Amino acid sequence: MCIFCKIVEGEIPSNKVLEDKNFLAFHDINPAAPLHVLVIPKDHIVSFEETPSELMAKMTPFIQEVTKKLGLDKNGYRLVTNVGDDGGQEVKHLHFHILGGGKLIWNHFPKDDPHKSL
Ligand code: 5GP
Ligand code: ZN
Repeated sequence: MCIFCKIVEGEIPSNKVLEDKNFLAFHDINPAAPLHVLVIPKDHIVSFEETPSELMAKMTPFIQEVTKKLGLDKNGYRLVTNVGDDGGQEVKHLHFHILGGGKLIWNHFPKDDPHKSL
């Protein structure tokens, strides 16, 4: 069983933000921003690439409920999903990162040469 499936099952503890029948939101163990929450489907889906559109349709309002609960809906946030090895995905269970709690930097991708992003 993957690490996020273990979190869904309660085998690994997590700091939960919101939960319903299909989804779970919990704080990232190693936050990259003042607020860093992960949103996952309870069913094991590897990445966004394998995600059925019907599931995304349900996930959208769930993510919006999480951002409201975190108070991020007014000033904004960043929503990220890493896909596969080139995308830097470490945990192979679909998750969206919600990052916020202040104005985030956007300078980690060099503008002068796109190949410096590799
Ligand atoms: P990825 O690199 O796959 O996009 O992101 C994986 C995220 O999961 C990382 O930000 C990492 O800190 C987080 N993470 C990994 N293991 C655990 C865990 O056991 N609990 C929590 N809450 N977050 C985890
Ligand atoms: Zn899983």
